[in-house]
Amino acid sequence: MNLEAYENQLEHGRHLAARSVRGRYAPSPTGPLHLGNIRTALLAWLQTRLAAGQFILRMEDLDQPRVKIGSAERILYELRWLGIDWDEGPNLGGPVGPYDQGSRNDFYHAALYELKREGRLFPCFCSRKDIAQAASAPHAPDSKALYPGTCRNTNAEEVELIRRQKGNRIPAWRYRVPNHVITFDDQVAGSISQVLHQEVGDFVVRRADNLFAYQLAVVIDDTLMGITDVVRGADLLASTPRQIELFNALGFRVPQFWHVPLLTNETGERLSKRDGAESIAALRDHGASPEHIVGQLAASVRLVPPGSRLSARELLEELDMETFRRKLVEALGKR
Ligand code: GLU
Repeated sequence: MNLEAYENQLEHGRHLAARSVRGRYAPSPTGPLHLGNIRTALLAWLQTRLAAGQFILRMEDLDQPRVKIGSAERILYELRWLGIDWDEGPNLGGPVGPYDQGSRNDFYHAALYELKREGRLFPCFCSRKDIAQAASAPHAPDSKALYPGTCRNTNAEEVELIRRQKGNRIPAWRYRVPNHVITFDDQVAGSISQVLHQEVGDFVVRRADNLFAYQLAVVIDDTLMGITDVVRGADLLASTPRQIELFNALGFRVPQFWHVPLLTNETGERLSKRDGAESIAALRDHGASPEHIVGQLAASVRLVPPGSRLSARELLEELDMETFRRKLVEALGKR
């Protein structure tokens, strides 16, 4: 573990964030981008460019077993084809790289070390089945999400005992959630509150399969990369209070959040890579131009009238930050 590199990049990130707006798009290379992913990317890009900020592309290939070979390259290609450009990213480099999570384990280890040192984590040997069984008590409203606290108060001796009983299994590490409410003001969704210990419970920051959890990695990356504005899909709204808790615990500045509506199909369901939602490549093969796709996506949140055809740059020139934000608020409310 290299604590010095971590501290240096922390300082660098702080410095960058103080100087200008820095936004990002952070796709997971688990398959081809569909229109919904692209709309989020376009909105993130617009927010940064409207603020004359720097746009960062980060490849979230943390969950290696789910990564598809060639997917990252393809995502970069599709974004560029659509006219979305970035100032730092996996292919370009930049001052606070590397820009793919798979190469950032040292930073996550350092953060994990800090959290452990402050007594904010505990090892947990529970399997999913254990948790489901313990949590299916009638008072747990969302028993799937809530951790019942089984390993929260085990002392070092008990931990050793359990470890041996479980055949030296590697534990997951959970964050000990304090008993307080997290409230934040989302630029699009408005005021959001979550009582973490009731609605989420102690959450995993390092998984039993040795992978770092998204919740930890995203906080470290956004901070070390000096991100000031996080524009992403509203499906992540429920994760944000956990992340804010981690930002606070580590003494980091909390970025501004913009949770944008998800694109839905005609029956109101969100698009997903798994449903075989139309990929950009398929649309291109059917003759769609970037102007066509950008126009359609911008019209879907009423940034432009239906039927518009324009490049990402032209769209940018038509907008100002206040109109952009207002349209997103309206679009989210309409869902
Ligand atoms: N990698 C996540 C995704 O593709 C996005 C995470 C984030 O923006 O914080 O859904």
